[in-house]
Amino acid sequence: MSLNLLMPEFIVDRNYERCIGCQVCVRQCANLVHYYDEEENRVFTDESNCVNCHRCACLCPTKAITIRRNPLEFKENANWTPRAIREIYKQAETGGILLTGMGNDRPYPVYWDHMLINASQVTNPSIDPLREPMELKTFLGGKPDVLRIKEGKLDEELPPQLELEIPVMFSAMSFGSISYNACEALARAASGTGIMWNTGEGGFHKNLRKYGSNTIVQVASGRFGVDPDYLEAGAAIEIKIGQGAKPGIGGHLPGEKVSSDISETRMIPAGSDAISPAPHHDIYSIEDLRQLIYSLKEATDYKKPVSVKIAAVHNVAAMCSGIARAGADIIAIDGYRGGTGAAPLRIRDNVGIPVEFALAAVDTRLREEGIRNRVSLVCAGGHKEQRRHYKSGGAGSGCRLYCPVCTDCHGMPYVPEVLHGQVQLGDCDAGPLVDKEAQPGNCFEKTYESS
Ligand code: SF4
Ligand code: SF4
Repeated sequence: MSLNLLMPEFIVDRNYERCIGCQVCVRQCANLVHYYDEEENRVFTDESNCVNCHRCACLCPTKAITIRRNPLEFKENANWTPRAIREIYKQAETGGILLTGMGNDRPYPVYWDHMLINASQVTNPSIDPLREPMELKTFLGGKPDVLRIKEGKLDEELPPQLELEIPVMFSAMSFGSISYNACEALARAASGTGIMWNTGEGGFHKNLRKYGSNTIVQVASGRFGVDPDYLEAGAAIEIKIGQGAKPGIGGHLPGEKVSSDISETRMIPAGSDAISPAPHHDIYSIEDLRQLIYSLKEATDYKKPVSVKIAAVHNVAAMCSGIARAGADIIAIDGYRGGTGAAPLRIRDNVGIPVEFALAAVDTRLREEGIRNRVSLVCAGGHKEQRRHYKSGGAGSGCRLYCPVCTDCHGMPYVPEVLHGQVQLGDCDAGPLVDKEAQPGNCFEKTYESS
């Protein structure tokens, strides 16, 4: 066994008095923590890869598993926090950069939580939702300078709008970064609730195109899966320039994850690395962006709204002014807490600004320039609770992106990419192992067979 300077972060306890040996945990753990020993006819544990996702504990039919934090601590030192020591050990051990998922988990202030909503008690009467009809229907897209109403109806041709039953959407996650099952779950949920899911940069799987009216198709720097049919298949098109978890950084899907299905959907050879360059090589100026926006509009007969997604950074207000003037219908701003499948840890935790500040700056700038009506703002990165959604809406975002992750990759903080050859897996990951393991039939049905 090789020398390992790091003890497991979590301890997996199995109560053998309860364990019936069904091996659900063996099949369900994406990190190969549980294994079955034929000679001993028993399930054992190698907890060095456990990320405390709770999957095995929840799916164990006899609730025989408990996961707890390893109480073994580093010697106290205010300058050398356990986190810093672990990160340095991990980096030294792997020789690679530290990759991680989710959004920034540092204890930076959440400004939404320091804002109170100013209620209007004398202007608008309060609404009793039990007795008075109420709706949260939202239309995203540019609006004209003046709205003309004739005989109680809108007498105006609006630019193409994206219609949502509630002002919330799923944030973009590509097929490849997440599995087909996870993509389909999002598509079906969006369709059932009247909102949108977003293909991310992974193309649009042919089986999911029936959900096109609830789908935003993304055009990112790698242009994976982009052709006229793809653009036509969605309800809106999003040009992704940046994302909050890694502003200015591209993407990389390792070749081992590019299965035949992913290769067909992304239109790249199976087994080849899918690299998304940091910049769009066809956008080096605001004029280039305008050209791309209008190329996409032209390709779809001006029937679909075009959104531009950017990360929240210091000059976001000026950028949004340019994007609005370039003809975008929607601007999605992603703050530094925005999620990701994988990003360098140092970037995720140290780059970007809170979306609260970005939204305020953008809203103010667009109002001052008299072009606020030309675009809807979509806000992402840190809307973890309903109250933050309300406050974000009050501050000017027409809609919020909500990360639908199951938090199963939340425990994958310091991924030794070199050791594993790939980013460690959450349950919706598209890794071949998870794809195989996390099939519904792999869970209880087999439990009952074997018990
Ligand atoms: S899932 Fe099955 S094998 Fe694993 S601990 Fe529970 S009962 Fe035992
Ligand atoms: S990684 Fe998740 S599924 Fe695997 S042992 Fe740890 S808690 Fe269980």
